[in-house]
Amino acid sequence: MIIIKSEREIELMAKAGKIVASVFKNLKDELKPGVTTAYLSKLAEKIIRDQGAYPTFKGYGGFPGAICISINDTLIHGIPSDDIILKEGDIVSLDVGATYQGYCADACRTYPCGKVSKQASDLMLVTEQSFWYGLKFAKIGNHLGDISHAIQEYNEKHGYSLPREYTGHGIGSHLHEDPSIPNYGRAGHGPILEEGMCLAIEPMVAQGKPYTRVLPDEWTVKMRDGKLSSHYENTIALTKDGIKVLTTYEGEEINNV
Ligand code: MG
Repeated sequence: MIIIKSEREIELMAKAGKIVASVFKNLKDELKPGVTTAYLSKLAEKIIRDQGAYPTFKGYGGFPGAICISINDTLIHGIPSDDIILKEGDIVSLDVGATYQGYCADACRTYPCGKVSKQASDLMLVTEQSFWYGLKFAKIGNHLGDISHAIQEYNEKHGYSLPREYTGHGIGSHLHEDPSIPNYGRAGHGPILEEGMCLAIEPMVAQGKPYTRVLPDEWTVKMRDGKLSSHYENTIALTKDGIKVLTTYEGEEINNV
């Protein structure tokens, strides 16, 4: 069942969203060779807690970190660790959730560490662009499949593939609500988009084949072929005044299409 949010609920989610975005703003320049992912996670947690929120992922399903940090061929759910040290050329995704007064926001950015290959920067760019392209189809009265299809089409046009096991999701007082939002699908299919829906749309994109495996830690999701992967996500709200993207910060560089 898709839960429709009131204006007040969307306001609280927007506050959570600004807190998530502030983590990106502050961590972006901390991604340097030699830094551990545990350090980044602790910093993110402090930023979130200092603003009266808590890190949604911490303890969620038993997840041990405050945020997920996934490097290169790790697609999602990387556990922050003192043993994982960033190096020049890595691409690093920061997946961040914040809960503020009972309402959640969830977003992800993939950033370069130092100078990265052209292949890596192209993959990050197209992943982000596919989000903004998909967003053009997030309109009241459209079908959810219109968004999914657009994300799939945009990435496949650039020669990338889309793992099918993991999807975007509805979001509100719970991190994961209906509907699930695959990064592939058929236009004109799926639920009709309505005012008050809040969605976390999150292209997860593979440079190679779309097949994944989960490490024995039961969280870390890697690409089976060891090729690069990238992830970009925002929480959005469908309102009578149009689409609101809740998890960007003022002045953030956006690669729209
Ligand atoms: Mg999400």
